[in-house]
Amino acid sequence: MLKRKETKRGLGPATTLVHAGTLRSNFGEVSEAIFLTQGYVYDSAEQAEARFKGEDPGFIYSRYSNPTTRMFEERMMALEGAEDARSTASGMAAVSTALQCQLRAGDHIVSARALFGSCRYVVETVLSRMGVEATFVDGRNPDEWQAAVRPNTRVFFMETPTNPTLEIVDIAAVAEIAHAAGARLVIDNVFATPLFQHPLELGADVVVYSATKHIDGQGRCLGGIVLSSKDWIEEFMHDYYRHTGPALSPFNAWALLKGLETMPLRVTQATRSAGQIADRLADHPKIARVLYPGRDDHPDAAVARKQMSGGSTLIAFELKGGKNEAFAFANGLELVLLTNNLGDTRTLTTHPATTTHKNLSQEARDQLGISDGLMRLSVGIEDVEDLLEDIEGALERV
Ligand SMILES: *Cc1c(COP(=O)(O)O)cnc(C)c1O
Repeated sequence: MLKRKETKRGLGPATTLVHAGTLRSNFGEVSEAIFLTQGYVYDSAEQAEARFKGEDPGFIYSRYSNPTTRMFEERMMALEGAEDARSTASGMAAVSTALQCQLRAGDHIVSARALFGSCRYVVETVLSRMGVEATFVDGRNPDEWQAAVRPNTRVFFMETPTNPTLEIVDIAAVAEIAHAAGARLVIDNVFATPLFQHPLELGADVVVYSATKHIDGQGRCLGGIVLSSKDWIEEFMHDYYRHTGPALSPFNAWALLKGLETMPLRVTQATRSAGQIADRLADHPKIARVLYPGRDDHPDAAVARKQMSGGSTLIAFELKGGKNEAFAFANGLELVLLTNNLGDTRTLTTHPATTTHKNLSQEARDQLGISDGLMRLSVGIEDVEDLLEDIEGALERV
């Protein structure tokens, strides 16, 4: 028998992430159990019937739900202030499920053009195969969102801050345009983390995460989650999720629960270091520009201050010498790892133009500001002095 200990309302995020959503078995385990089971045994044929009718609240099959994945969902719901959620095997399973479950042939979607590469593939290629047309806009310009609206527009989709140039989009302004058009706003909130930005409070209808990033935060596993109102989950996602099978593995859900416990400590530390590193880079003679949401010289600093309560663990910066200098910098690092993940305890860096964004046309990269000299740095929790020494040393040798 699983017992839920109700958490009191109004707890802070760090308390919530240690306690919320815990389901404790009769063994009284302190740390959440991993329920590695695909199914559940019923006491009687009557109980099985009631469960399938939805009259008995127990579990049916782990493609639908599982005690460990449900703990992860409930903990995220408590943090996000969402009424319901479904966890997924990866961030892309979350994005594609959240979009496909509410769109059908003949519908139209408006999307910001600055998107994570796979998200762009889903909107541009997968949805169009289903007969859903897409219009891409500069997310920062409300007039473009407004002008893109058609009678059959059902969904607005965007991320903010964006990958990799950390553009900031005004969530409340875009939500207002979406709702006036009868559309729903879906936000990919990975870069802000659930600690620094609350899209549902700002007017978004659905928020999605790749839990692979800051939520796990230790480079161990893939995961994702979609959070929204009870009504939206019931109307669009509940059946679609059960029958198409994007479910998260209970083992990964457990790793993500452990990740959530320490997320505030990790993200706070990494953000503090990122601010210091961004300031140091901004003054460096080999750097043309630094994009960091916590700095006053960020082009969208006013919007960032309005909707985010922290800077970011990510920094984008451009070397004056283009690709050659960017590569020399990347190759000169000794501590910082060259890899395309982000939100990790380790500091990681990538050259977007030749990796994560290589499939975009030169024109699309130019539009997004992804120059050949641009590097993206995901700051970890190492001692900031060590990171500065490594980064400045690599710049010195460029
Ligand atoms: C990583 C990422 C995704 C995809 O998540 P996976 O867990 O790798 O599938 C989606 N959106 C953004 C903004 C991301 O950074």
